[in-house]
Amino acid sequence: MNPMKIGGSMTLKQESIYYMECIYCSGEMHETTTLYVQEIGSTIVIVKNVPCFKCKKCGEISYIASVAKRLEDITKRLEKAFTEIAVVNYTVA
Ligand SMILES: [Zn+2]
Repeated sequence: MNPMKIGGSMTLKQESIYYMECIYCSGEMHETTTLYVQEIGSTIVIVKNVPCFKCKKCGEISYIASVAKRLEDITKRLEKAFTEIAVVNYTVA
């Protein structure tokens, strides 16, 4: 007789880094991709296909730390490009 229950899918979901809760409305966030737009000086940086989490309830978008860091690196790099609009694809940037 074993009283211990094997953790169901709920346990796995909470431990996964792919599960996040919205900081604004506590809604469930799902994994998707988005268009990241950042204005720096006279340059507008547009990054396509950025992996992110979007709230199912309010639409809030958040990035995991490694993605946020990479967006920062891409933005910094393009700041020196001296173009008005820089468009890059995240998957190849
Ligand atoms: Zn939300």
